[in-house]
Amino acid sequence: MSFNRLDQIHKLKETFDICIIGGGATGAGVALDATLRGYKVLLIEKGDFSSQTSSKSTKLVHGGVRYLEQAVRNLDWHQFRMVYKALHERKTLLQNAPHLAHPLGLLTPCYTHWERWYYRIGMWLYDKISGSTNLKSSRGLSKKEIQHEFPSIESQYLRGGVLYYDGQMNDARYALAILKEAERLGACILNYACLNSFELGQKSLKIKKVVFSDLLSQESYTIAVKAVINATGPFTDSVRVLANPRLKPRMKVSRGAHIVLPAEFWQGETALLIPKTDDGRVIFVIPWRDYVLVGTTDDPDTLSETPRILDVEKEYLISYFNRYSSKKASLEDISATFVGQRPLLQVQLDSAMNSDTKSLVRDHEVEVDGRSKLVSIMGGKWTTYRVMASDTLDVLEREVLRVAVKPCVTKNHVLVPESLVFLPADIAPDIRKHLTDLYGPKAGDVYACGSERLLADEPYLEGELIYVKEQEMAVTWEDVLARRWGISMRDEALAERLKAIKKEAFAS
Ligand SMILES: Cc1cc2nc3c(=O)[nH]c(=O)nc-3n(C[C@H](O)[C@H](O)[C@H](O)COP(=O)(O)OP(=O)(O)OC[C@H]3O[C@@H](n4cnc5c(N)ncnc54)[C@H](O)[C@@H]3O)c2cc1C
Repeated sequence: MSFNRLDQIHKLKETFDICIIGGGATGAGVALDATLRGYKVLLIEKGDFSSQTSSKSTKLVHGGVRYLEQAVRNLDWHQFRMVYKALHERKTLLQNAPHLAHPLGLLTPCYTHWERWYYRIGMWLYDKISGSTNLKSSRGLSKKEIQHEFPSIESQYLRGGVLYYDGQMNDARYALAILKEAERLGACILNYACLNSFELGQKSLKIKKVVFSDLLSQESYTIAVKAVINATGPFTDSVRVLANPRLKPRMKVSRGAHIVLPAEFWQGETALLIPKTDDGRVIFVIPWRDYVLVGTTDDPDTLSETPRILDVEKEYLISYFNRYSSKKASLEDISATFVGQRPLLQVQLDSAMNSDTKSLVRDHEVEVDGRSKLVSIMGGKWTTYRVMASDTLDVLEREVLRVAVKPCVTKNHVLVPESLVFLPADIAPDIRKHLTDLYGPKAGDVYACGSERLLADEPYLEGELIYVKEQEMAVTWEDVLARRWGISMRDEALAERLKAIKKEAFAS
C-alpha cells in the first residue's frame, strides 16, 4: 500500500479499534503511538494534513525560555514541569527525523549589565534543566564578539548577549513523516475526510460508530470503532459537542502572526530572541530555508480555518525587526505572511474566559467524556506531541478500553532511518540540497520521478509533482506549495510562478 488516497480508501474496508479525528501534530503522534501499541487505527483529517495550526508554528523545537521565566517568577511548578517535559523532548524530536529538525543557535541581545547577568543565569538554568538532553551549552558574548560574529544585529546601545540552543523543524513535513510511518505500520490515514457525527449506543450513549464524508467524492462512511480520540486542536470543542451536547467549551484560541523576509535581511545561521517587547511579548527573528521568519504575536481570536494577517500585525513585526536589525526592511520587502491559532486550554474555566492569552499555560490535558467516552487531547505544543500522544493512549487504555496500559515505544522509534541518498554525483548542488532537505533518504526516489526543473532558476522538479501526489497524498496546489514544499509560506510570488507552470497538475 502507498501513501495515496486510493490505497487508503481501499483500507476503509478493514475493521478498526480506534478512530482519530484530526491530522495535525497531535493526531499524527497519537496515530503512530496507537499503531505501535498494536491497535488498528483510522485517522481522518478534514483538510490536508497539518493544514491548520501544525504548519503555521514558529517551527521551534523548544522548552520555551519565556515559560521558564514565568515559572521562576511566579514559582509555578506546573509551568516548570511543562518546560522540563518540552526540553527533554527536543533531542528525541531531532534524533527521530534528522533531515527535518536540527539544532538552532539563538542570541539574546542585552542592553544593561543587569540584563546580561539575568539572561546568562536564565539560559544556564535552561541548560541544566535539559540535563543530558541539552543540545549545546549556552554562553555569554561581549558586544565586540557579537559585532564580529553577528553583523546583522543592530549594535548601538548593545552591552553583550547570551547565545543558547533550541531546535528548528520543518513542521508540516514532520507531521507527514509521522503519519507515513503510522500508515506503513498498518494505520489507515485519510485527508479531506470530515467527521460529521457519531452514532451512539441506545442505552449507554457511548460512541459506537463514526460518520464521515470523503470531501472529494462526497461519499459518506459509517465505521464501527471501539474508541475515538479527538485531536482537532483549536476545533476540539466542535467535536466534543457532537459526542455530548452538554459539554462546556474548554478551548480558547490565540492568534500568532508571522512575516517572512528575503535572506539578505539577516546574515548567518543564528536566530535572534527579542526577549521582551514593549507589550511583554517574545519575538523571534529566525533564518529559515533561505528566508527570514519574524514572529510571533499572541492575541485572543475567534476560531477560523483561514486566519489572515492584519496590517497592524505586519507593521508591528516590521518595526521590531528594524529595531534589532542593522539592515532595515519595509512592508514592501515582506515576501510572505502566515497566521496560526494556538489551541489553548482554559485551565480555570470561569476566570480564564476573559483572560489574556499570553498567561494561559501551554500544557495539555486528556479528557474522557463520562457519557460518550470520547477522549479529547487538548492544548500542548508541537515539541511535546509525542508525550501528548503517550498520555492520551495511557488514559484511553485505562479508562475507555479498560485494558492494561501498554508501553509507549515512540521515543526510540526513528521515523525516517538515515541511509544513503542515491542521487547522481553530478546533480546540481541546489537540487541536491532541496531534495535531501525535504525528502531525506527518499530524495533518490523523487529524482527518479523526473529531473526537469519547473523553473530554470529554482530547484523544484517536475518529478516532485508525481511523488507528492502518489506518495504523500497531496491533492491541491496549496497542499504542495504550503506544506509539501512550504514555499508559499516563504515567498508567495515564487509559489504563484511555480503553480502557473503546471496549473493542471493539481486542483486549485
Ligand atoms: C503562531 C504559533 C506558533 C507556534 N509555535 C510553536 C513552536 O515554535 N514550537 C512548538 O512546539 N509549538 C508551537 N506552536 C504550537 C503548535 O503549533 C500547536 O500546539 C500544534 O500544532 C497543535 O497541533 P494539533 O494537531 O493539536 O492542532 P492542528 O494542527 O490545528 O490540527 C487539528 C486538525 O483537526 C482537523 N479537524 C478539525 N475538525 C475536524 C473534523 N470535523 N473532521 C476531521 N478533521 C478535523 C483540522 O483540519 C486540523 O488539521 C505554535 C502555535 C502557533 C499558533
